Amino acid sequence: RSSPRSSPRWATHDCARVLADSMPTCDAMRPLRLALAASELTPYAKTGGLADVLLGLGRWLGQPAVTDKATGKPSLTGPGHDVRVFVPYYKRIADSGVEVRDLPHGQKIDVRFPQRTIRFGIKEAKLPDSDVSVYFIDCPELYYREGIYTEDGDEALRFAMLSRAVLETCQRLQWAPDVVHCNDWHTALIPLYLRTAYSWDKLFAKTKTLLTIHNIGYQGYYPESQLDTIGLGDQRAHVHHGDLKDKKFSFLKTGVLHATRLSTVSITYAKEIQTDEFGMGMQEMLRSRSSDLLGIVNGVDYGEWDPATDPKIPHHYSLDDMSGKAKMKAALLNRFQLPHDSRAPVFGVVSRLTSQKGFELFADSIPIHLQREDMRLIVLGSGESKHENYFQWLRDTWPSKVGIYRGFQEELAHWIEAGSDVFLMPSRFEPCGLNQMYSLRYGTPPIVRRTGGLADTVQAWDPGAQTGTGFPFDEYSSQALAGTMDWVLRNWRDQRGWQQLVKNGMSQDFSWDRQGPEYVELYRSLSTHR
Ligand code: ADP
Repeated sequence: RSSPRSSPRWATHDCARVLADSMPTCDAMRPLRLALAASELTPYAKTGGLADVLLGLGRWLGQPAVTDKATGKPSLTGPGHDVRVFVPYYKRIADSGVEVRDLPHGQKIDVRFPQRTIRFGIKEAKLPDSDVSVYFIDCPELYYREGIYTEDGDEALRFAMLSRAVLETCQRLQWAPDVVHCNDWHTALIPLYLRTAYSWDKLFAKTKTLLTIHNIGYQGYYPESQLDTIGLGDQRAHVHHGDLKDKKFSFLKTGVLHATRLSTVSITYAKEIQTDEFGMGMQEMLRSRSSDLLGIVNGVDYGEWDPATDPKIPHHYSLDDMSGKAKMKAALLNRFQLPHDSRAPVFGVVSRLTSQKGFELFADSIPIHLQREDMRLIVLGSGESKHENYFQWLRDTWPSKVGIYRGFQEELAHWIEAGSDVFLMPSRFEPCGLNQMYSLRYGTPPIVRRTGGLADTVQAWDPGAQTGTGFPFDEYSSQALAGTMDWVLRNWRDQRGWQQLVKNGMSQDFSWDRQGPEYVELYRSLSTHR
């Protein structure tokens, strides 16, 4: 199969090994101290893929070390690291009743900003089914709100505080991370804070930073005046000058300027964000750091997403016995009170309903198919009202063919992956995308637009060669989507071929065991970076 896992451009396994061989063995072999900082973490606070990645990567990195068969020593690129994850203690986490303990000596910590001093405490828990510590930043005045993200006037301060609280927590623990792995704009100020407010502290003398861009569509823009609020008023020389001229600044751009290295979540997206079409204004600065920018496809946590064991679905199945999939289809249709007919394919959607996800392409394609074909469409999502209203219109127009659930419902997401026959993901752009990888594992071939991580993870079905895993299309147009739907329906009628397609998808391996080592190589090369 064509591997989704291509070697990094500048840090192949061999390269990491050579690097390690040239260092004193004890240092090369020692487990790394890794701080993972983000605004989301499954299962506590999630709006999208970022949360799943933090759980999956964190849990994998913290697993016991594996032995390298060739040398008999702990694997250089395997797990077994001292990894700790940092997220805000949002109201929803406090309300969820998750078991946490107050960290001794980690309470009533004051962080001084020019206009106010903000106090926080540290609560600790373990990532589910692991020994990895999660440090929750407990700061009720900033995080006890309804949403994870807000449009409140202090949104910049909320995440500047997160960035500083990560470093303050390391200080309390007297724990010196080799790498602080920042994720998206919310934690992108850490590199600059390390160089300024915390530069005096020898604890961080060797600390390097990695900034991973999970979605360049969110850059964390705020008025320039807020630089003073977040304690970076005297750092104007170190934020993007063009933005300052426009009286604004961006968290993400600041991170790109100051992080030791940069990564993003697929190989294709790493190239795309350096182009005018996808860079969203950051292409030039990314091009100027292109030798520091690496694409690593996200992994899938099959502990959470595997139809053979998934506790969120009532019927299980695997390649050896697929009968559970037919039962899931019936159960899903039943849940949405749609008539069941095993010959009618079910198309599933689980998504944030934003323009990124390509739903505008539905307008001149899906209604034609709903009108003409015996098919079902089941949608789980929430977001922009124009998309919500559109799906509601589809439901009202074809009530026996369309089911919609407006909202966020983790369990239902698993049901739709399992109970659908085809997964729909025609994204305009897609940094990596997890849902298409989940759908492959659940035997639900995806329709995807060939962009970002979708291009890296889904290969076109070729009935002649019996190869491929799904139905990618190139042009961002309703016609292209409609043509792809026809392509799918033609192949659906050939159920023998379809079973092979399903098998190809279910046999793919996007596990963290495959993807995680690329991060470890990157962290190791960073920790030896001068
Ligand atoms: P993105 O991060 O852009 O939202 P991904 O495909 O990477 O897209 O990840 C989306 C994640 O969020 C998946 O785990 C998906 O199941 C989940 N998700 C998205 N919308 C919903 C929803 N309405 N209800 C439950 N889960 C959702």
